[in-house]
Amino acid sequence: MKKAVICGGSIGGLFAAAALRKSGWQVDVYERTEIELSGRGAGIVTHDVLINALKALDITTDNLGVFVKDRTAYDKNGNELMRLPFPQVVTSWDRIHSLLRASHPDQHHHLGRAAIGYRQGHNKAVAILDDKTEIEADLVIGADGFGSNIRAQMLPEIKSLSSGYVVWRALANEADLSREVQNDVFKTFGFFVPTGSQIIGYPIAGFGNDLREGHRRYNFVWYIGVEQDELKDMLTDEKGNYHSVSIPPPLVRDDVMSRFTDTAHKTLPANFAEILEKSEMPFFAPIYDHHSPIMGKGNVGLVGDAACVARPHVGMGVTKAACDALSLADSLKKFSIISDALAAYSEERVAASARAHYRARDLGATIFVDPEGGNEDGSRNPNLHEIVSTTATIVN
Ligand SMILES: Cc1cc2nc3c(=O)[nH]c(=O)nc-3n(C[C@H](O)[C@H](O)[C@H](O)COP(=O)(O)OP(=O)(O)OC[C@H]3O[C@@H](n4cnc5c(N)ncnc54)[C@H](O)[C@@H]3O)c2cc1C
Repeated sequence: MKKAVICGGSIGGLFAAAALRKSGWQVDVYERTEIELSGRGAGIVTHDVLINALKALDITTDNLGVFVKDRTAYDKNGNELMRLPFPQVVTSWDRIHSLLRASHPDQHHHLGRAAIGYRQGHNKAVAILDDKTEIEADLVIGADGFGSNIRAQMLPEIKSLSSGYVVWRALANEADLSREVQNDVFKTFGFFVPTGSQIIGYPIAGFGNDLREGHRRYNFVWYIGVEQDELKDMLTDEKGNYHSVSIPPPLVRDDVMSRFTDTAHKTLPANFAEILEKSEMPFFAPIYDHHSPIMGKGNVGLVGDAACVARPHVGMGVTKAACDALSLADSLKKFSIISDALAAYSEERVAASARAHYRARDLGATIFVDPEGGNEDGSRNPNLHEIVSTTATIVN
């Protein structure tokens, strides 16, 4: 039985584990976090490709999420600017992660074990953990996210780049919203796109994947442009410590939160303002991305965000990780030499990842388009149709 070691036990790592296990590999996952991951992230948009990937791995897609039938763009007064029929199932990070985690045997899931690097051997690779443990396998996979240690060793020249904007996210309980909001914006995939911002939102399941009417939540996402100095200030906590990549939500300073609330009062239409006001603590993260020119070398592969981050505008992170996993398992079936399989996998997935990566950058760039005459109320965005019709759609 061939043996794989996967560094990173989030969605990318667990998809790769499921795909390799299905091909008869023995797979051990080493996750840095000491407790089971849960409650991270918020909404995830699904695509047929993702649903087919789950089915191919014998993972149920029953009750996957909330069905939305259309997309609606609003102006600052809450008037509808555009409504497009757009059937899609929207789910949550928790739902996908818990389905994948349930498919992976506990005895092969190791929490609190961080990989610091690897060593290529003769037709084998060794994963090196932070307690100096060395684990030899036929294949070592870096599924350790955008700050990947495995990628840093394989491709030290690849650095994540800041986009010039942050994303604020929040979740509101359906039951807390007014009847008006429940009957209108809650039911749709909503947009509000004034210059310098982009707001999207959609309903997702409530706690414990509760899909019953009245028990769901609304996933609110707001991209806002920030200058470098302002970002540095936002990432600095009360004690003056600067958190270079992202700041844990409880450490965000009160004045940063009140500036955000003021901006929300000035910027948002009443429907999104109500959703935000009734949300639990909103949190923000700077948006970075990167793209690797190869996704495998020797006996070491990269999957998911470790290999490439497509900014969230395309809603492809989870689907991309699923496609990486299936492509990797497929190549390993076709080639008996692992480095050949990784070369074929790399060729296929680097190109596909690049398409998602660049489409996401293009969509991100529309945030800053400032038409003559202004667009403070979101009604004169020249890219409105492109934003509404291509956000969170599959990039082939
Ligand atoms: C605002 C926002 C909205 C999004 N919306 C969508 C969407 O609609 N649809 C979609 O498909 N995707 C979306 N995504 C992206 C999606 O969440 C990720 O792309 C996807 O989960 C990829 O997961 P991953 O496992 O590759 O990386 P990650 O989720 O980053 O996981 C990496 C894992 O590795 C662990 N780790 C890190 N370092 C080490 C180490 N040294 N050793 C061992 N373990 C380590 C981490 O603890 C973590 O568990 C969104 C992201 C954001 C920020």
